[in-house]
Amino acid sequence: MAIQNFDVAIVGAGLVGSSLALALRDTGLRVALVEARVPQAVPVDASWDNRIYAISPGSAQFLEQLGIWSALDAQRMTRVEAMAIFGDDGQSRLDFSAYEAGLGQLAYIVESRLLQAALWQALEAAPHVQLFCPATCAALVIEVDAARLTLEDGTEINAQLMVAADGAHSWVRQQAGIKASDKSYQQLGVVANFATTLPHQGTAFQWFQPEGILAYLPLPGNRMSMVWSLQEALAQDLLQLAPSELSARVAEASNQRLGVLELITPAAAFPLHLIEPETLIQPRIALVGDAAHQVHPLAGQGVNLGFADAKVLASVLAERGLLGCGDVYLLRRYARARREEILAMQRVTDGLQNLFNRSWPMLGWVRNVGLAATNRLTWLKQQLLKQALGNP
Ligand SMILES: Cc1cc2nc3c(=O)[nH]c(=O)nc-3n(C[C@H](O)[C@H](O)[C@H](O)COP(=O)(O)OP(=O)(O)OC[C@H]3O[C@@H](n4cnc5c(N)ncnc54)[C@H](O)[C@@H]3O)c2cc1C
Repeated sequence: MAIQNFDVAIVGAGLVGSSLALALRDTGLRVALVEARVPQAVPVDASWDNRIYAISPGSAQFLEQLGIWSALDAQRMTRVEAMAIFGDDGQSRLDFSAYEAGLGQLAYIVESRLLQAALWQALEAAPHVQLFCPATCAALVIEVDAARLTLEDGTEINAQLMVAADGAHSWVRQQAGIKASDKSYQQLGVVANFATTLPHQGTAFQWFQPEGILAYLPLPGNRMSMVWSLQEALAQDLLQLAPSELSARVAEASNQRLGVLELITPAAAFPLHLIEPETLIQPRIALVGDAAHQVHPLAGQGVNLGFADAKVLASVLAERGLLGCGDVYLLRRYARARREEILAMQRVTDGLQNLFNRSWPMLGWVRNVGLAATNRLTWLKQQLLKQALGNP
C-alpha cells in the first residue's frame, strides 16, 4: 500500500483531537486524523446523554472560532449563572455568581455527544483533513525526518508531527516511550441524569462530603446531571440500586436540594486517575488532552484544559516560520505555554481531593474554615474564577 505524507497526524478524534484538526484549517498544513471508533450520529429522540460537560467561556469562544458553537442546539444547553459549593460540616459554603462577576454565565452545560457530532460533521467538510476511521494503529516508528504510523490494514502514514490525542491511556505516548505517573484515586465518577421537582435556577451545586464529592449540573428544564466521585466499593453499591432507590439516595445526599428526583438516564461510572506524563513533547511528538494530563473531575476542567492545548498547539504550528512541524524547538513553545495552567489544575484538583478525602478532625476544621474564608475574600474568589473561566 502506498505511503501517504502529511504535515501533522493526530491519533484520536475525541473532542480534543477533533478540535485540533479543525483549528489547523487556515495553516496550510495537511492533516491526517486517525480514530478507532465509528462516528455516532446524535439520536433524534428526546433522550439525554449521560456524559455532560461544563464548558468554560474560554472553550466556548474557541469552539465558536471553529464555527461549531453557534451550530449547537441551544435548547439542549444550559448557562450556569451561579455555583454553590458546600463543606462537610453542613454550614460552610462558597458562592460564585455570574451577575456579581459581571459575566453572562460562569459556564455552559453541554452533552458530550452533541459536541462530538458537531465536530465530526465539520471535519467531514474540512478539505485539509483526511480521516482514517475506523482505524487500528499497529506500529509507530519515530525517525529523524518523520514519524511513521502503520495501521492494521497496511496503510502507512508519514507525518512531520504525530499528535497523541488518544486519551488517558494513550497508545502513541507509550509507543513514543514517554513515561507517565498514574495515581489511581480508587474512586469511580458515577454519572446519571435526573428530573427534579424543584427548579435549579441555573445553579451548579457541589457538596464535599466524607463519602465523596457530589455535583449537580443544571440541564434544560427541571433536570440535572449528577457527577458523584465515590470510593470504588460505595460507587459499585450505588450502581446496583434500582432507579427509584438511586434517585432517593442521590436526593438524600443533597438534603433534597432539588426536591424529589427521578432517574432519566442509566447511571455509568468512570475510574478516576491523576495521570502526569514526564513531558508534553519530544522530537516529532506532542501530547494533547487526556493523553497529556488526566485530572480529577471535581473542577469540571479536563476537556477545557484539552481545548486550550488544541488552541495553543494550532497557533504555535501556524506561526512555525521556517521550522518544521515536528521540530523540538517549535514544540517547546507549546510545552512552555501550557505547563503552568496544567500544573495548577493538577495541583488544585489533587489538593482539594486529598483535603476532603481525609477524616482527620483538624483537617475538617481547616477545610470548612477555608471554604468560608474564601467566600469572604473577593480577590481570592476572582482568581479562582479566572482560572475556571479559561481566558474568555
Ligand atoms: C465523570 C467525569 C466527568 C467529567 N466532567 C467534565 C466536565 O464537566 N468538564 C470538563 O472539562 N471535563 C470533564 N471531564 C474530563 C473529560 O471527560 C476529559 O478530559 C475528556 O473527555 C478528554 O478528551 P480527549 O479528547 O483528550 O480524550 P478522549 O475523550 O479519551 O478521546 C480519545 C479518543 O481517541 C480514540 N482513541 C484511543 N486510542 C486510540 C488508538 N489507539 N487509535 C485511534 N484512536 C484512538 C478514542 O476512541 C477517543 O475517540 C470529566 C471526566 C469524568 C471521568
